[in-house]
Amino acid sequence: MSLETAESLDNFVSSCTNDYCNSVARRKCLYLQDRNTYISVIEEFMSKHSIFDNISLVQLHPSAENGYPHTRPPNIICIPSSASFPELKRTLFHEVVHIHQRNNPDLWASFLQSKDWVEVQKSELPDRWLERCRYNPDTFLHPFWKYKNRYIPLPLFINPHMPLFHEIEVGWYDTVTGILEHSAPEVFTKKYGTNRQSEHPYEIYAVLLEEYPAYTEEFLNVYLSNR
Ligand SMILES: [Zn+2]
Repeated sequence: MSLETAESLDNFVSSCTNDYCNSVARRKCLYLQDRNTYISVIEEFMSKHSIFDNISLVQLHPSAENGYPHTRPPNIICIPSSASFPELKRTLFHEVVHIHQRNNPDLWASFLQSKDWVEVQKSELPDRWLERCRYNPDTFLHPFWKYKNRYIPLPLFINPHMPLFHEIEVGWYDTVTGILEHSAPEVFTKKYGTNRQSEHPYEIYAVLLEEYPAYTEEFLNVYLSNR
């Protein structure tokens, strides 16, 4: 599977280019395929776990997405060519959750609904917050979710006039008051604590699942049907 196919499916790179904050934040990032010998280390690891059987691996320029590993549709894991992960397992088992989300959107929607998350349209959000959101390739096709029928987490550039890729805060748009809160609501922290990536339920569960021992696709399907 190629990056050209991925782009035809999600238009992620062109959407970044056409958005003010997202293009400025990526002005020093090159989204280009790259390759070095470390790919064989990753491939070797993936070959030992059946969950990666149908996954394509692509190395990217070290600056692509600021060097963050990510996924593209339908089944591509993208890793910066500069990476040599001390925790390869954790990284790859995080990314493969995103591939599973891509390919099982209904299963994930039902699972998340059982955890009080519902996908919402962007029309529920004021433009001033939409314009400040950092695009995330792993959540790009289903970007907005409401928790407990009230709060929508948003990855917002801290300075929208001079947005920097790594300078974001997770804002919580309260759909009842119309106010953007700067800290997570208590109903969220009670359940999830201080999850590293509270910006989106896909990320929250990828972070939770990366901690499990190396799992299979069957494990994920059982995990998601446990509601
Ligand atoms: Zn992720």
